Amino acid sequence: MPTRKMGARKRVALVAHDNKKKELIEWALYNKHSLAKHKLFATGTTGTLLEEALDQPITKFLSGPLGGDQQIGARIAEEKIDVLIFFWDPMEAQPHDPDIKALLRLGVVWNIPFACDRATADFLLTSPLMYHDYESMTPDYQTYLKRSKP
Ligand code: PGA
Repeated sequence: MPTRKMGARKRVALVAHDNKKKELIEWALYNKHSLAKHKLFATGTTGTLLEEALDQPITKFLSGPLGGDQQIGARIAEEKIDVLIFFWDPMEAQPHDPDIKALLRLGVVWNIPFACDRATADFLLTSPLMYHDYESMTPDYQTYLKRSKP
């Protein structure tokens, strides 16, 4: 079974839709000391707000609707991001709905820990595995890769 290694200092990507930004910032402030143990990434606007609130450097991608979600998805596929905290808005359609679906899909494709609400984010951040090396089982895609081409 292929595996994916994560160090004790996780590479955490954070994204929040506009109606969820306040909630994410509150959560991040409450968990400031835990988040300081990790390397943080975020979509553009979320990242700017988080950087101001946490006083911690954050690697910022493009704004979500301009490609930021896809940049994060690509880094998950490339094993450059370990954990995703994604407060998406269940009450409002977004212009980049296909990108959101793609990002959530890649989280499952690569079996990474990800949280889409505050309670799950609490469980995730308080897990001992967040602070130790961790090797996750990655689904075996060899059969798919070796399939006979039409
Ligand atoms: P933003 O993007 O942080 O640039 O607002 C978030 C999103 O809508 O995906």
